[in-house]
Amino acid sequence: MQPARPLVAVLGGGQLGRMLGEAAVPLGVACRFLDPSPDASAAAVGAVRVASLDDVPAAVAFGEDATVVTYEWEGVPASTARAVAERVPVRPGPRAVEIAQDRVTEKSMFADLGVLVPRFAPVEDHAGLDEAATRLGLPAVLKTRWAGYDGKGQRVVHAAADVEDAWTSLGGGPMILEELVAFDRELSILAARGVDGATVAYPLVETRHRGGVLRVAVAPAPLRTDRLQREAERIAARVLDQLDYVGVLAVELFQRGDELLANELAPRVHNSGHWSIEGAVTSQFENHLRAILGWPLGSAAARGHSACVNCLGQLPDPRQVLAVEGAHLHDYRKGPKAGRKVGHVTVTAESARARDERVEVVGAIVDAA
Ligand code: AMP
Repeated sequence: MQPARPLVAVLGGGQLGRMLGEAAVPLGVACRFLDPSPDASAAAVGAVRVASLDDVPAAVAFGEDATVVTYEWEGVPASTARAVAERVPVRPGPRAVEIAQDRVTEKSMFADLGVLVPRFAPVEDHAGLDEAATRLGLPAVLKTRWAGYDGKGQRVVHAAADVEDAWTSLGGGPMILEELVAFDRELSILAARGVDGATVAYPLVETRHRGGVLRVAVAPAPLRTDRLQREAERIAARVLDQLDYVGVLAVELFQRGDELLANELAPRVHNSGHWSIEGAVTSQFENHLRAILGWPLGSAAARGHSACVNCLGQLPDPRQVLAVEGAHLHDYRKGPKAGRKVGHVTVTAESARARDERVEVVGAIVDAA
């Protein structure tokens, strides 16, 4: 007999949900999304139920008849995830989301696992901030403890005179002060873990940011030896096992000399893995679905050289982008808005040099939009 068609209920309906839904189609998997907006990006690939993600009864009802519930947005309140998890499997489990939402527990977990992190100090109040600034030294980065992403909710504090201003501009309240890392570059490692504990890791990705937002992700990251890859895989494996994690996660890293320092954990598919749709044997979206459904994981190996160029604010003319060899356009069907991720272009190539040349061309087109 043919097995029943699985139904994945996704909390959130943004572009990550849309790409999960796209990956679900050939697998015969249906996706449904919970999102505050009926025009959510994922509406193209599955039904959207409209509700706030704070609405616990709505979320519980939304998940009830699903095979498994997952997230595409890390801001999903842990209380929502926990309530849903009482009725149906939620993967990854709510604990991963809870830890990743709090920059202090996140960094403490990395440190407890023996993973290097920037020196940091939790800050409860203004007096605590002065103390932390004296202890860590300046310059340092002040970040809100909760609800920060894409460089939002953070300020670099250069001198004692900036402390007051940074504190007020971030709205007071619990924060974290971190050493300002003079990194050589930023990297990201994505890995997936199945229900049976099997894992696969993608090649390290070099992430280039502008104003705290990812602009270009280069995959595989140029590496002189495979030592950093092995170290990054060890970091990801420790986190996956510690959280008994099921699904795809990303760890954002700083490379300083030969060292890798963990900056952030994303308990979901991630912008630094979008290249994998065209550039890997199995995309991060397909592997996330395979993992949460208890299916075998696919190879995470790269096929050739790829890069993802984010379209921020405004989409370029498709004809211009698609005239570049190896360019693949992803339009999230989101309205234009300054700084918003409205799409991306993946370029693929046979060599790193051709990839870099294409990134340059596509980057100029995207910037001119
Ligand atoms: P986040 O919101 O923590 O991912 O930070 C966004 C970006 O800010 C990172 O990708 C880095 O470019 C920069 N950043 C964050 N924390 C630090 C740090 N401790 N030292 C240096 N740069 C940082």
